[in-house]
Amino acid sequence: MSALSEFLYHLKTITKAYFSLLVLEVIILITSIMGLTPKSDKSLITSNQYLNLIEENNPTTRYAKRLRTNQQTECAVCLSEFKEDEEIRKLKCKHIFHKDCLDRWLQQYCSATCPLCRNKVLPDDVVASYHRIRDRVDYDESDEEVILTLSALHRTGFPGFF
Ligand SMILES: [Zn+2]
Ligand SMILES: [Zn+2]
Repeated sequence: MSALSEFLYHLKTITKAYFSLLVLEVIILITSIMGLTPKSDKSLITSNQYLNLIEENNPTTRYAKRLRTNQQTECAVCLSEFKEDEEIRKLKCKHIFHKDCLDRWLQQYCSATCPLCRNKVLPDDVVASYHRIRDRVDYDESDEEVILTLSALHRTGFPGFF
C-alpha cells in the first residue's frame, strides 16, 4: 500500500515537471507561429529554463577514456584535457565539451552553436527569448514601469529600509 502511494507521489512529481516544460514549449511555439516580439515576461526564458533546455537536448555524461579511442581528448573551450569521469556534454554533431564550459559558452552568444563546427544547439527563437531577458535595457517605458513597481514593492516590504 505504501509502495503504491510512493509511486503515485513520484508520478505526480514527474507529471508536474513535464507539464511545466510543456507549457514552456507551447509558449515558444505560439510566439514563433504568431511572429510576435513578445513584451510580456511570460515568453521570456530564465537562465534556469535555458540550462534545462540544453540539458534536455544534450544530456550530461561522464568522460571515460576507454570509450573514446579516436575522439577529442581536450575541450575546445578551455583547451584542457578531459579527465576521467569529468562531466561532459556531447552535442548532436558529436563534439564533446566540459559541461560547465559549454553551458557558459551557450549563454554568452546570441546564437547557441557548437564552439567547433557552429552546428545549432538550440533553436534561434529559444536563444532569442533567453537573451531578451538578459539584455533588457532600462530605456523602455514598460521596463521602467516594472522597475517602479518593484521598487514600490520593495519599499513596502522593507519599511525601515529607506
Ligand atoms: Zn573545458
Ligand atoms: Zn560540433
